[in-house]
Order: sequence, then structure tokens, then C-alpha cells
Amino acid sequence: MGRVIYLDHASTTPTDPEVVEVMRPWLAEQFGNPSTVYSLGVAAAKALQDARESIAACIGAEPEEIYFTSGGTEADNWAILGTADAHQKKGRHLITSTIEHHAVLEPMEYLEKHGCEITHVPVDAGGLVDPDDVRRALRPDTVLVSIMHANNEIGTIEPIDEIGRVTREAGVLFHTDAVQTVGKLPLDVNELGVDLLSMSAHKFYGPKGVGLLYLRKRTRVSPLLHGGNQENGRRAGTHNVPGIVGMAKALELATARMAEDGVREAVLRNRLWEGLSANIEAVHLNGDMAHRLPSNLNVRLDGIEGESMILMLDMEGICVSSGSACTTGSLDPSHVLLALGIPAEHAHGSLRITLGRSTTAEDIDFFIKVFPPIVARLREMSPVWCANCACKQRN
Ligand SMILES: *Cc1c(COP(=O)(O)O)cnc(C)c1O
Repeated sequence: MGRVIYLDHASTTPTDPEVVEVMRPWLAEQFGNPSTVYSLGVAAAKALQDARESIAACIGAEPEEIYFTSGGTEADNWAILGTADAHQKKGRHLITSTIEHHAVLEPMEYLEKHGCEITHVPVDAGGLVDPDDVRRALRPDTVLVSIMHANNEIGTIEPIDEIGRVTREAGVLFHTDAVQTVGKLPLDVNELGVDLLSMSAHKFYGPKGVGLLYLRKRTRVSPLLHGGNQENGRRAGTHNVPGIVGMAKALELATARMAEDGVREAVLRNRLWEGLSANIEAVHLNGDMAHRLPSNLNVRLDGIEGESMILMLDMEGICVSSGSACTTGSLDPSHVLLALGIPAEHAHGSLRITLGRSTTAEDIDFFIKVFPPIVARLREMSPVWCANCACKQRN
């Protein structure tokens, strides 16, 4: 395989070599179970505690408020199902948005099938939630508001701190899926005003299959996994010690280089957008540009399919995504793009390009060079686009 230009960092990131290094002993000779009392286990328990303290410090939390999970999906499911279960006496109404990740939308749908009521607040054409919509959706029986920090498809950053003020005033628990922002934006659970927060290591150059749920002190949430007494009896299962150690290192590295990476990626992202809009006709931006992750670009091209663009870019060694990786293989247009008011036939022609640490100006320029001819070829073959051309010629 030739050189790969990886522009799909929102779906996963390569594990940082320094992270791999700190994980290695915990996979090999330091394999003890942290729940045991002999030295081998105690060493693992100490590594867990160090990781817990280091991660807590990065997000403004207390170490006792960190609960390790198998990733973002488990953290989101636990936050939603666990809160709904523990607060049934207060009510069975939950609020979320129309653009959440499936790891939030699906447990919400599960609850709906089991007697809960779910309100999905809308987003504007740029993908932003209005905190006043959240305020208006609140009811005396509302037990949880769950709104993502930044969207994984269009990169829009939601006004979490403002929503946090709304939920706090109302005395309602507030969860945010921060999987796309941890390690990318400065983040403090108190400034955001959240009671629960999900993160996942593989989105910030850590290993896959490990994440956590931040649970503010005294927040009642039923366990999702029942078994051993790990994590204060709130999340059973032998700890993924190498993964947790790796996640702590990854977050430490990401926090240290966050500001610099963000500026560099935003410059490259803007260069990409300028290059594409100057060289391709009928290309549109999906999502608000001002409130957006520096690494995200999501564009829509009239007359062609996202999947065919992905395959042709792959032949040039470029990895990008059409919707979220989870919807790849399904023919449904992205629920996020539909929520912005984009018609289904246009949503299909979208491409998500997410930059990262390895992205160079040469990569971006190569993309700008190879992509316009791909679009032209696909449009030549497209019945939809040809109809447009004919129509234009006639006028
Ligand atoms: C990737 C992602 C998840 C799922 O996290 P996993 O660790 O892959 O299970 C949840 N929410 C968002 C916003 C994501 O981008």
C-alpha cells in the first residue's frame, strides 16, 4: 500500500507512540488484576489511581468522580439508562437533540419503547441548539438533558455552558457527550455546568475500547453492568489497566499540545475549504463555520454520492468519510444533515474531512489537486447532475 493520507480523525485516531510505550508494561510483565491484594495487583491499582488523578485534573473533576468504561458508547448508554432508572420516581421525561450520536439516540429510543417520553430539541441550519428551546422543553418530570459538546459529523460546538445554566436553574441533571471535544478544546466540568460527561480515548490518540463517564458527586445513577465491586460498585468488570494508563497519557499529551494543534489544524482546514470552493462548482459547507471544531470540514456536492467520492479518493490513498462511520453501509442519509434541513437527495452528496496531527499542507494541497477531477468525472456519470447541465444550457 502506498502512502495513506488519513483525513478521518473524527472516526478514530492513531495511537500516539508515547501512549503505546506507557501501555506496554501493563500488557506484559505488569499484568496484575488491580482488585487483588498482593504486590502485582497493588502496582496495577496504583497505576489506575494515578491515571484517575491525572485525567480528573485535565477536566476540572475530582478523581472520585471518574468512572472508567469500555468507551464512549458505554458511557453514553450508562448516563442515559442509569439516570432514567434511578430517577423514575421523579419522572420519565428526557431531553436530547436531533443531532446526537447514535450512542445517545439509541438508548433514548430504547427508553421510549419502555414508557419514557423523549423530547428532541431541534438545531438551526448551522447545527446549533438554542438553550431557550431546552428551557421550553423542561417539565416537572424531566430527569435528564443530554446534549453533545461537539457534533461528530459537522463539528459544531454547542453552547453547553449556557444549557448548563438552564438545567442548573431547573435542578435537572445534565449530560454531555464530549467524545469529540476532549483533548481538542479546553474543558472544565464546572465551567460547562454538567453533571455527567462521556469521553473516549481513541478519539484523542489513545487506545480503542476505553473511555469514562464523569459523574458529579452525589449524582444518582443506576449501574449498567452488574458484577464485581469495581469503581465503587457502580461499574463492574476487571479494569482495562493498559487502556486506562494509555488514556491518561493520551489526554496529558493532547492537553499540552491542544492550543498549538488547534491553530495549525484550523489554518489547514480553512485552506482546504478555500481550495475546494475555488476549484469546484456547486460545493456547499454543512454546519456553522464559526462554532466549529478546528479539525472538521463537511461539504456537500450537488449531483453525486458520498460513497462514490470516498471510493475514488481511496484510490488516491485518501481516507475520508461520508456521514458518521456508524452509518456507513446503510443507505439512510445522515440524520444530522437532515436535521439541518438539507433534503435527503443533497445530504447523500456529503463528505466529512477531519484533520489531525499528521495532516500537512502537502496533504491538503494534494487533496485540492485530485478532488476536482474526481467530482467532474462523477458528475459526468450522474443522471441528476446531467439534468442540471442540460437545464443550464437551455436557459
Ligand atoms: C466516537 C463517538 C462515540 C462512541 O465512542 P466509542 O468509544 O467509539 O464507543 C460517541 N459519541 C461521539 C460524539 C463520538 O464521536
